[in-house]
Amino acid sequence: MPTDIKNLSRAELTAWFVERKLPVYRVDQLLQWLYERRVTGWDQMTNLPKSLRETLADEFSLHTHTLAGVEGSRDTTQKSLWRLRDGAFIESVLIPANPALFGEAADRHTLCVSTQVGCAYGCKFCASGLDGWKRNLEPAEIIEQVLSTERLQSKSTSEEPDHARTTSPRLVNNLVIMGMGEPLANYDNLIKALKILNTEYHIGARKITVSTSGLAPEIRRLADEPHQFRLAISLHGATDEVRSRIMPVNRKYPLEVLTEACAYYQRRKGKMITFEYILIAGVNDHPDQTGPLADLSRRLHAKVNLIPYNKVEGLPWERPTEAAQDAFVEALRQRGVTATLRREKGHDIAAACGQLRLKNSTTTDEIRIPSPTQ
Ligand code: SAH
Ligand code: SF4
Repeated sequence: MPTDIKNLSRAELTAWFVERKLPVYRVDQLLQWLYERRVTGWDQMTNLPKSLRETLADEFSLHTHTLAGVEGSRDTTQKSLWRLRDGAFIESVLIPANPALFGEAADRHTLCVSTQVGCAYGCKFCASGLDGWKRNLEPAEIIEQVLSTERLQSKSTSEEPDHARTTSPRLVNNLVIMGMGEPLANYDNLIKALKILNTEYHIGARKITVSTSGLAPEIRRLADEPHQFRLAISLHGATDEVRSRIMPVNRKYPLEVLTEACAYYQRRKGKMITFEYILIAGVNDHPDQTGPLADLSRRLHAKVNLIPYNKVEGLPWERPTEAAQDAFVEALRQRGVTATLRREKGHDIAAACGQLRLKNSTTTDEIRIPSPTQ
């Protein structure tokens, strides 16, 4: 199977054109078709000569993800289940920046994308890793989640046929790499995808947040990249004892090693890091975690995002009472920490981060296909 054209950066495409003595201004045209017009077939690239389109079609594939199901509506958090070309399933979640009012769609959206099929890290609370790791996503498969989402949304907002439009309005302004998989375990493909999205789809690096369970060496690598990506750490425990119990990765990179890597990131980028901290009743919500958590946050200039645990089918854990959640956030604030308690969007449709469960064909029945009225 030839490689997908979206696996190639602008520099690689240019080299390919130069090697064949083809005019390099065609690269710009090609990239516009791919990332601005977001076409799905070579034939739609009407300003490229037919012979060039044929050569491209011989050498590369041009894949789109197949929509296998959608949950939620366009005005609220919406989860898409995509079938990849090998039959694997991944999910992306579109989150409106503000709750849409009076039936009008919000104009700013964050897309949560997946980087792997499954996850190898086996955090005890997380649905993504329950069935283990299957494979890494290619750069094109990461990128295509954005493009397929845009196409899906523009279909539902416009009566105009795709080919009649000269520019395609954009919906996604922020990316969070918080879907299925551990992004930094698929480092090269992730970075390549983000760089292509940054230069060709024009999404600012500051609008992209990479979330990791704490792969210290790759955090340092990310710090050395020229791009100003934002970093979120899935902390979920402020002592090694608590963290190791729920996140096996902590045995490999305990808090001291992790926080040194975070400090390095912080020094290199001068950016505030975010600690994600799920509150799980009786597991990590004891007030004695707030002291060490506050110390870590102050030391690293990190803000803390508290997330009440989203129940995962088959796992025994629960979120704490709202009073316990409020007490936890208040204890952090009293210690001078910037802390927010994030009431998750999409909780009801199992689309909140951490609930992207590996799907297979036997479970797709659970996904509702949208009716034309949605
Ligand atoms: N592997 C990366 C990226 C996935 S992000 C990481 O772990 O950071 C998914 C986020 O959702 C992480 O912060 C994860 O810890 C969190 N999460 C996982 N399961 C959850 C659950 N049941 N409820 C709330 N958040 C959860
Ligand atoms: Fe993987 Fe992140 Fe889930 Fe842990 S929290 S199992 S690293 S996706």
